[in-house]
Amino acid sequence: MEENKSVAKELKEKLFMQRKNGYSRIDEAEEKAIFDFAEGYKKFLDTAKTEREAVCEAVKVLEENGFVEYKKDMKLSAGDKIYRNNRGKAIIAAVIGSAPIAKGVRLCAAHIDSPRLDLKQNPLYEDCELALFKTHYYGGIKKYQWTTIPLSLHGVIIKADGTTVTVNIGEDENDPVFCVTDLLPHLATEQMTRTATKIIRGEDLNLLIGSIPFRDDEASEAVKLNILNILFEKYGIIEADFISSELEAVPAFKARDIGFDRSLIGGYGHDDRCCAYPALRAAVECTAPVHTTVTILADKEETGSDGNTGLCSSYLRYFIEDIAEAMGAKGRDVLTASECLSADVNAAFDPTFPEVNERNNAAYANKGVCITKYTGSRGKSGTSDASAEFAGRIRRLMDKNNVIWQTGELGKVDAGGGGTVAAYIANLDVDTIDMGVPVLSMHAPFEVISKLDLYMAYKAFAAFIAD
Ligand code: MN
Ligand code: MN
Repeated sequence: MEENKSVAKELKEKLFMQRKNGYSRIDEAEEKAIFDFAEGYKKFLDTAKTEREAVCEAVKVLEENGFVEYKKDMKLSAGDKIYRNNRGKAIIAAVIGSAPIAKGVRLCAAHIDSPRLDLKQNPLYEDCELALFKTHYYGGIKKYQWTTIPLSLHGVIIKADGTTVTVNIGEDENDPVFCVTDLLPHLATEQMTRTATKIIRGEDLNLLIGSIPFRDDEASEAVKLNILNILFEKYGIIEADFISSELEAVPAFKARDIGFDRSLIGGYGHDDRCCAYPALRAAVECTAPVHTTVTILADKEETGSDGNTGLCSSYLRYFIEDIAEAMGAKGRDVLTASECLSADVNAAFDPTFPEVNERNNAAYANKGVCITKYTGSRGKSGTSDASAEFAGRIRRLMDKNNVIWQTGELGKVDAGGGGTVAAYIANLDVDTIDMGVPVLSMHAPFEVISKLDLYMAYKAFAAFIAD
């Protein structure tokens, strides 16, 4: 009896897929590395809340590590570290490898835009002596989650004379913050009968920004006037300048450890900065790679990747073509020989909402970085679906480098779905697979990830670009 049991146990160990909690598979030194890595990440979350701020931070980190801005026709050779800043909203960094560029590059693509509330182009109005900003939400949000939380305002205003004003207000403890109001439950009888998509409607997402009227009995819209006067004194802007602005309201709170054991991180915009940060760290730490490494931090993923800073545009292809030409190769040959990790998050299994997942194919917090072969919805529509061969190669690579990883799809069949930039890069004839950190409460103002999974993403990206 005893013997049989151990045979079965042995067989199980040999034949069953290992899906153990990552903490049972690491030693104390690695646990310390995991927690140390999270500290740098939380700082990044707090300083780079928007795509523009993430690019600024990336440029800073890249230049500190010897990367220089790439200009077309620059001579390139092995070991060179370069970056291209795409309009301050997306960035590509590369380390030239020792192998000929025609052997392909190792791409790692994450995105740095996150769901938020964008100001409309004519946002400011006064109603019943309160001043407000009209917003248009960006990305897929549950609108009701964005009320009654402190919001900060980030972005740029291009004035009539062409000068740029940079705005970042609500992050410093001494700054004021803004918020979207909601109905008191006492008077919400009708509101609470609406379906969840309409409890708060798009046009209800108005940002409260002031209430003191300008001191002049003659003036109408005196509160609006007072706000414009404050803005004029602080930024030198007039109302028409909003037309040429990009101002984004994002949660004003900072990233925090979650849990008595501090194993999780709560914060705004884990999607997809929990992949962008590890990808950037891996990029700057990778010296003397064999294949050229190309790390992309993209904009516009949350709205479908269109636009010249999104990955549906040609800027990645142009960059590859430029560096290929500089080294005597054709861009299309480089792309065909290249491999890509689409570094984006997946949904973490939430025990409070188990019904949206199929347990055998869901990603779990603390089981490592998640490899997602396909995304999409309604019968894999819109996915690039990585080949078995490429999935096999990545799996071998992860195991060889002691990366704790799991596989998971985005929810059970027909529960919903979603996509990443994987398809757009795969469409360039690049072998591409999704890999990233599982997230709880994805797209909420306060998302949650596991520190272990974050660190494993970093290990995975580092192993991939160095291979
Ligand atoms: Mn994402
Ligand atoms: Mn997203």
